[in-house]
Amino acid sequence: MFGYLMMKTVFEQLGIDLYQQMADLSKRQCEIDCFKIRGTIGSCCSDLHCDLAIQYAAEKGIIIEPTANKELPAMGEDGCIIPPWLRPMCTLHICDKSLVNPKFYKEYFNLREKIDAYEERMYLIKETMQ
Ligand code: SF4
Ligand code: SF4
Repeated sequence: MFGYLMMKTVFEQLGIDLYQQMADLSKRQCEIDCFKIRGTIGSCCSDLHCDLAIQYAAEKGIIIEPTANKELPAMGEDGCIIPPWLRPMCTLHICDKSLVNPKFYKEYFNLREKIDAYEERMYLIKETMQ
């Protein structure tokens, strides 16, 4: 059991790192592609996705207190307050503006493959521990 817990912890850290890499990659590209981001008036964020992310975090045992932002409850003054690994739907989201860039396309899907493989491994670890 201890071995499984160690393995789970190591893999969880891997996931945190991978989702952070994806958030950094997308942010760099969105800052180039998106007027809304450049104009700092938000992005393709929505209250629905904030609610889903807050709920997802709660399922992982992490309570996110809503910000003062009435439209986007997870948006703080310096951006989203939820770490990338706790809002996977948002972190993995991209749009066609970014996909037409071949360099971004390649980097995104290389990283996406690693994240998908990570999620599969995490699923198997959890199944084994049950
Ligand atoms: S995914 Fe597209 S719409 Fe959303 S912030 Fe990035 S460039 Fe803008
Ligand atoms: S990235 Fe953050 S602020 Fe934007 S929709 Fe997702 S949870 Fe909300």
